[in-house]
Amino acid sequence: MATVQQVHSAAVREARAGCAGKGDALLSAGHELALAVVTADCVPVLMASSERLAAVHAGWRGLAGKIIEATVERFQGDKVVAWIGPAIGPCCYEVGDEVAERIEAVSNSSVVDRRGVRPHLDLPAAAGFQLESLGVEVLHCSAECTRCETPSLWSYRRHAEAAGRNVAAIWRHDCEVET
Ligand SMILES: [Zn+2]
Repeated sequence: MATVQQVHSAAVREARAGCAGKGDALLSAGHELALAVVTADCVPVLMASSERLAAVHAGWRGLAGKIIEATVERFQGDKVVAWIGPAIGPCCYEVGDEVAERIEAVSNSSVVDRRGVRPHLDLPAAAGFQLESLGVEVLHCSAECTRCETPSLWSYRRHAEAAGRNVAAIWRHDCEVET
C-alpha cells in the first residue's frame, strides 16, 4: 500500500510502497500498488485511467490550491474516471466568508449556501465540479455526510481530537479497478 504524509497541500507524489513523503495526492503508473489517503470530513477522491491510478485528499485548502487539477494533469491526457467518497456535507460544513469565496472561485456559486448566519459549503460538489470541468467522468459521488449521517465513519467535526481516520483506497485486481 502506498500512503503519503498529508499536509493539506496541493502536492502530488509518485506512489511507492510505504509513505511517499509530504503531499496530498498519490499517483502510480504500475499495477502493483494500492493507493490510500485518509480523511475525517475532507473529500477522498479516487481516479483511474487505463494506465494510471490516483488517490487525493481534498479539503478546502487542497481544492483552493487546485490539487485535483494538478493530479489530473499527471494523467497526461488519458481518459480519467473518478469516485468521490464520503465527506462532510453542506448540512454540517459551516465556514467563514473567506473560505466560501475561495472555493467559489475555483468551482461555482452553487457550492455555497448563504441562507444561514454563516455560509455552508458543499465540498464534494466542489470536487465534482472541478473534475467534470477537467473532462473527468465522475462515476460515483457519495451523498453521505461524515458528521451527521454515517456513525460508522470518523468525522473531525463530530469526534474532534478523538477522531480516527477513514481510509479510501484504489487498486487494480484482475484488470478491474477496485475502490
Ligand atoms: Zn451533515
